[in-house]
Amino acid sequence: MSFKNKTAVITGASRGIGLAVAKKLASQGANIAIIYVGKEEEGENAKKEVEALGVKVGLYYCDVSDFEKSKETVDQILNEFGTIDILVNNAGIVRDKLVLRMEEADFDSVIAVNLKGTFNMIKHTYKTFTKQRAGRIVNVASVVGINGNAGQTNYSASKAGVIGVTKSVAKELAGRGITVNAVAPGYIITDMTNALSDKVKEEIENAIPMKKRGLPEDVANAIAFLCSDEASYITGEVIRVDGGMAM
Ligand code: NAP
Repeated sequence: MSFKNKTAVITGASRGIGLAVAKKLASQGANIAIIYVGKEEEGENAKKEVEALGVKVGLYYCDVSDFEKSKETVDQILNEFGTIDILVNNAGIVRDKLVLRMEEADFDSVIAVNLKGTFNMIKHTYKTFTKQRAGRIVNVASVVGINGNAGQTNYSASKAGVIGVTKSVAKELAGRGITVNAVAPGYIITDMTNALSDKVKEEIENAIPMKKRGLPEDVANAIAFLCSDEASYITGEVIRVDGGMAM
């Protein structure tokens, strides 16, 4: 697997799964554009970690739910890197609540970042990919986008939407040699899941056939495979990375 001379754009790559993807692709030679929206220091630290792997790295502050800002950011990346070969739509948030307590803003913000953010990034890189007649798009969905989950109506709707986007865009771009796939992580150890109570963590672990949580690197390995030449005949697929959780 080699990504030498390729440019990969990864949203939400300042930490968690996104940072693991950035490091995995960089370790195989890809130049990396990190998109983040949180603390500058965290973004700078992620940039340093990836740069240490000997590739070119750019850091871009961009809320992917903002259509215009996403366009500006993609244009800036194209100016600085010359091309975009791989897009990994990983940025995501949760606002977990039962519908009874879920406010309109909880629903709208999760859809805006997870689903519309994925659309925005695909929309603004679409022409670049079609002109190149080559490329890889990988969207990060979730097992709850497949099975649903109490307390996550907003999040599971956004992730089911991401799977729909993946399959539709895969059909649009298949004739041009561009593959579009998704990964559906289960329970992965990151800040997102560390926020859960110990009781909930234990309950989830017990429900996983492999009886353990996954690592960001487990998801990064599946994403790297989908971005590789070895996966050139796979499109519109959703690969679960969940220790059997959604089997
Ligand atoms: P995380 O540790 O909370 O990291 C989320 C990342 O998304 C951060 O880099 C964050 O940037 C970025 N982000 C959030 N809102 C953004 C926005 N509006 N624009 C740009 N970037 C934004 O989460 P994670 O666990 O690594 O999750 C990564 C992806 O995997 C998400 O899509 C999540 O839904 C999915 N997933 C995770 C699990 C799991 O068990 N962890 C399971 C299934 C699916 P800042 O750091 O700059 O805030």
